[in-house]
Amino acid sequence: MTDASQVTLFNSMTRKLEPFEPLREDGVRIYTCGPTVYNYAHLGNLRAYVFGDTLRRVLQWKGFDVVHVINITDVGHLTSDADEGEDKVEVAARRANRSAYEITNYYTDAYFADLKLLGIRPAAMYPRATEHIQEMIAFVQDLADKGLTYEIEDGLYFDTSKVADYGALGALNLEAQQHGSRVAAHQDKRQPWDFCLWRRSPPDQRRLMEWESPWGRGFPGWHLECSVMSHKYLDFPFDIHTGGVDHRQVHHCNEIAQNQGYQNDDGSGVNYWLHCEFLVMREEKMSKSKGNFWRLQTLLDKGVHPLVYRFFLLQATYRTQLEFSKEGLVAARTGFDRIVRRLRGLLERTGDEGRQLADLSAEAESTTGGSFGYLRELYEQELDGGAAEALERFDQAVSEDLGTPRGIAVLTSVVADPEISDLDKLRLVGTFDLVLGLRLLTIEPEELNIRPDDAELTNEQIEALIAERKEARQSKDWSRADELRDELAAAKVLVKDDRDAGETVWMWKPDLD
Ligand code: AMP
Ligand code: ZN
Repeated sequence: MTDASQVTLFNSMTRKLEPFEPLREDGVRIYTCGPTVYNYAHLGNLRAYVFGDTLRRVLQWKGFDVVHVINITDVGHLTSDADEGEDKVEVAARRANRSAYEITNYYTDAYFADLKLLGIRPAAMYPRATEHIQEMIAFVQDLADKGLTYEIEDGLYFDTSKVADYGALGALNLEAQQHGSRVAAHQDKRQPWDFCLWRRSPPDQRRLMEWESPWGRGFPGWHLECSVMSHKYLDFPFDIHTGGVDHRQVHHCNEIAQNQGYQNDDGSGVNYWLHCEFLVMREEKMSKSKGNFWRLQTLLDKGVHPLVYRFFLLQATYRTQLEFSKEGLVAARTGFDRIVRRLRGLLERTGDEGRQLADLSAEAESTTGGSFGYLRELYEQELDGGAAEALERFDQAVSEDLGTPRGIAVLTSVVADPEISDLDKLRLVGTFDLVLGLRLLTIEPEELNIRPDDAELTNEQIEALIAERKEARQSKDWSRADELRDELAAAKVLVKDDRDAGETVWMWKPDLD
């Protein structure tokens, strides 16, 4: 196995690409800020989780064992990150006239279903905030005992002037903020960026979720849970903390302040902070409140398979904003289809040997935290010269800050390369897919061909039109053939002659309008 490239990662703390060195021998410890389960995840959120999964897959591919923890925020996330407004779960529960637990259980299940469809491997655990209330109280008590907190009317706050360099991760310009407009909201705070650790329930109100604490009946601040649960399950300092880029400014700065206070030192509690850029709709971020809310089911209804979305995401690096566009998704749909069809042709030609490689790939998808070393050996041991070179290029690409776009470029060139044998192609795709997670050797083109909800014709009707067109062409009835082609185009179907397979293939064109 070639293993020349060292993994480098862009650390938001130092703003540099750094070689990755694990802290311990027994596994890389990763914490990902998980969903606030008051609604479905939107496609932007899912980008952040595909990124976390890719990070993890690359590390496993490079031979590391991994322990990955993703929290479930089921209490405490206010409608604004800056500690204003109401608890999102509470609002959703009241609106739906359900208990908070009904809401959070429902959306947690929906979140897991999305992960599965996207080929995201399960984390080692998904700790929930509501199951760690006592640990959170103990953590806050420790901060309070050290004199790092103060009480005001609505709760207990963290005094950020007591820790070194508050806001360094977000490169916050605190001076400018002090004079900015957001300051007015909370007169009693000592610094405008101080944040709530324990929010007291108003005396005349009962919340759906509240607990007794030394600071009164109430609920924990959102930032607290990530410090407490990452510490509990991964210990400080752990290797990598991930999240969306918005968390760099507030949430993670606050986690760091808490970690510093708890540890009695200036360390952030984490060796590498990684942030995934936003998915945007033409310059604007996709968000639940703006109403441009697309979820995975929206894509399925419109005829886009979740793995086509994953393929679309992997074609951009996680550190660039990605525009969610109709053209981009349709291109991903056809590009992915082309690769999958070619691979299916290869599998048919290589018989049992190819089948074994596909079976191995299916098996590999169910493994969890261990290194992919033994799987790589099975795929890579017999590669010929040209194939071994392609492997090295792929390795370089993904080792450099998870360069999946270049990795996919290598995949595409391998599949089309006449110099690489059929079996070597399948071996390479098998090992690449450990990183890409696209089920390249097991998915059928038919699975990708999802009929959009509002399509007027059925699959059978389309097949009949295509057969009729073929007949018309055979009998040189060109006007009838053209008519049928137009009819198919109107039905939002793409028809193309696949020279490779020597057949006419068709697919539903995703209807994204
Ligand atoms: P939430 O459920 O709101 O706590 O968000 C879950 C994750 O999605 C966090 O890591 C956010 O930073 C991330 N996120 C939110 N919006 C987007 C977006 N438009 N693109 C990418 N990531 C996002
Ligand atoms: Zn978090």
